[in-house]
Amino acid sequence: MNLIILGLPAAGKGTQAKKISQEYNLTHISTGDILRKAATEKSLFGKEIKKYLDAGELVPDEMAIGIVKEKLLKEDLDAGVVFDGFPRTPKQAEALTEILAELGKKLDLAIYIKADEAEIIRRISGRRVCRDCGASYHLDYNPPEKERVCDRCGGKLIQRSDDQEETVKKRIRLHSKLLAQLISYYEEKAILKTVLSKGGIEEVFARIKEIIEVNL
Ligand code: AMP
Repeated sequence: MNLIILGLPAAGKGTQAKKISQEYNLTHISTGDILRKAATEKSLFGKEIKKYLDAGELVPDEMAIGIVKEKLLKEDLDAGVVFDGFPRTPKQAEALTEILAELGKKLDLAIYIKADEAEIIRRISGRRVCRDCGASYHLDYNPPEKERVCDRCGGKLIQRSDDQEETVKKRIRLHSKLLAQLISYYEEKAILKTVLSKGGIEEVFARIKEIIEVNL
């Protein structure tokens, strides 16, 4: 089974994608994680990426598509893939359909985690990530055991540079428009399913599982 998770920033895409990949043994491809890692490199490429991330802007389509293509060619895709943060634009959606077709695969589900703007801002302001391993936490919903320290690797927890309030508002404006286009694209393909982001992580995951089980 191959699926994508759609939603505004901080709708819970990353958290749910990780849970889905563990539960159903799927490969998890997060373009945000790949780009954040690349942005820590001292190379020109790393610095270029860092600029986009800090500004809360999308990297160019060709770059995002290239990253996903490279990753798909490396991974064992037999069990399936859960895409997180990709596609973000209609051009990326078209590219994903084509790349999967070339590999003899297709998307089975597009799960849209629907959240309202006030909720998104609340979530983002409490979000923290580990500087070293990328694990994510939330000060209210999913706090670390020790303040500012990653449970998994002991690394320092920081706020993402693109999670500052002004950047967040800019990201929401940009993403809302693109998201609407992606929703139409997958509605037309008749694979779009919507779940509400209300409630805790487990509640949302239970809603997603119900959808996946029907489509397995
Ligand atoms: P995320 O962790 O998915 O919120 O992504 C963090 C940042 O990485 C975004 O704000 C973009 O700057 C960049 N990014 C992630 N995925 C994509 C994508 N598919 N296309 C373009 N930029 C992306």
